[in-house]
Amino acid sequence: MHEAYEKLSRKMEELGQLEQISGILHWDQEVIMPSGAAQARAGHLSVLAGIQHQKLTDPSIGQLLDQLDSQFPNGFDNFQQCNIQEIRRRYDREIKIPVDLVQELAELGSRGHHIWVKARQENKFSEFAPVLERLIELKKQWAHHIDPHCPPYDILIDDYERGLTMKQVDPIFDVLKAELVPLIRSIQESSYQPDVSFLQGEFSVEKQEALGRTISEELGFDFDKGRMDISVHPFCGGGDPTDVRITTRYGSDNFMESLFAVIHETGHALYEQGRMERDRALPVSEALTTGIHESQSLFWERMISKQKAFCDYYMDLFRKTFPDNLKGVDSEAFYEAINVSRPSFIRVESDEVTYPMHIILRYEIEKGIFDGTYAVSDLPEVWNNKMSDYLGIRPATDVEGILQDVHWSGGAFGYFPSYTFGAMYACQFYNAFKKEAPGLEDWVRNGKFQSIKEWLNRNIHVKGKLLSTENLLKEVTGEGLNPEYFIAYLKNKYDKIYRLKPKA
Ligand code: ZN
Repeated sequence: MHEAYEKLSRKMEELGQLEQISGILHWDQEVIMPSGAAQARAGHLSVLAGIQHQKLTDPSIGQLLDQLDSQFPNGFDNFQQCNIQEIRRRYDREIKIPVDLVQELAELGSRGHHIWVKARQENKFSEFAPVLERLIELKKQWAHHIDPHCPPYDILIDDYERGLTMKQVDPIFDVLKAELVPLIRSIQESSYQPDVSFLQGEFSVEKQEALGRTISEELGFDFDKGRMDISVHPFCGGGDPTDVRITTRYGSDNFMESLFAVIHETGHALYEQGRMERDRALPVSEALTTGIHESQSLFWERMISKQKAFCDYYMDLFRKTFPDNLKGVDSEAFYEAINVSRPSFIRVESDEVTYPMHIILRYEIEKGIFDGTYAVSDLPEVWNNKMSDYLGIRPATDVEGILQDVHWSGGAFGYFPSYTFGAMYACQFYNAFKKEAPGLEDWVRNGKFQSIKEWLNRNIHVKGKLLSTENLLKEVTGEGLNPEYFIAYLKNKYDKIYRLKPKA
C-alpha cells in the first residue's frame, strides 16, 4: 500500500470520526437535549467545526495530496482514486475560503436561525431581512473565492448536487412547469374529489408509533443498527452506518403524517445502512449527493408506499390498528385518500404534484437573488406573485410565504432543487427496476420488500461516490436524467384518480 495514501486515509478517517461525533450531538440537540442547553451545545458544535476546519486545511494534507498527484492514477484502484479526488476537492475548497469568512458564516448561520424563528413567530419579514441580506453577501463572497469565473448560484447548487448547473436545471424546470401547472388546475376543477373523511379523527399516538415501527422494520430498517425517536422536524441522522437514527412527529388527529415521515426517513436510513463495507470511514462510501439521498427516501415514500399495491398489502393492518376510523374503508378508497392533491401554502405539507412548483418558485427566487434581479425587500411580493401564478393561491402572511423554510436562515442557498431532482431520480429508478422486474407491484402487494431493498442496495447504496450522478443514472437506467418519466408518472396516476381523461 502506498505510504502517502495510507497517511492521508488515517487523517480522513479521523475527520470522519469528528463528523460522526457532531452528528450525534446534532441528534441529541433535536431529540433529547433540554432547551436550556442550547448555548452550551452551540459552543460544542462550533469548537468541533473549528477543529474539523483546522484538520482539513492542515498543510500536511496538501503535501500528501501533492505526492499522490505525481503518480495519480497509476497504481490506485477506483476506490482509492475516488478518495484521492474527493479529498483533493475538499481540501482545495476549504483552503480557498478565508477563516474569517468561515467564522462569520458559521456565527451568522447560527444567529440567523434564532432571528428567523422569532421573525416567523411574529410574522415579520422585516426582522429577518437584514440577516438574509448579509448571508447572501457572504455566500456571494464564498462562491467567488471558490471560482471567480463561475456564476455564484451555480457554485451553491453544486455544493448539494455535484455538477448540476442552472443551464441544466432551467430547461427541466420549464418542462415541469409547462406540464404541471395545467395538471394541477385540472385536478382542482375535477368534479370527482376523493373522500378523505376517514383520515381525520382521533388516532392514538401509541398505535401510530407501533405501526410506524412495524412498517419501517418490514421495509428493511435494521433496529440493531438504528433508532426511531421523536423530533419537531423529522430527519435521518446519527453517526455511523451502524448507528442510523430516524425521527418522526405525531399528531393525534392524523396518522398519515407520522407514517409517511417514518417511511421517508426509513428510505434515507436504508441508504446509510446499505453503504459499502470497504472504506466506510472514507469519502468513497458516502452518499453521492443530496438529490440521490432524497431519491432514496422518495422511492419508498412515493413510488412504493403511495401505490395501490402497498395499500392492498397493509390495509388489514391499518384497519386492525384503527378499527373505529377505518371501518369499511377498502384499499382503493384508502389509496385515493392518501394521494389527494391540492395546492397548499406550505411546502412540507404539499403533495407530489404540487411540490415541484414550490421548488421551482424557490429556485427562481434564489437565482434572481444571486444574479441581482431581486432585492431582498422585494422578496415577499415576488414570492406571493409566483405562488399565485403557479398554484393559484396567494399567502395572506409571510409565515405562509417567504418565512416558512429554515434553509436560508442557515445560509443554505442552492439546496431546494435537490428535492425535485430527487423525485425525478426516484421515478426513473423505479421505471428501470420495473423493466427488470415486471412483477414489482406483486412484490409490493405481497410485502416482499426485502427484494426491493436489495435492488437499491446493489444498484445505488453500495456505489457510494464511485460514479457521478449522470453515470449512476446511466448505469442503472440506461440514460441520463429524463424528466419525462416523472411527468408521465404523475399524469397517468392523477388522470386515473381524478377521472381526468374520458376514455375515447
Ligand atoms: Zn428527505
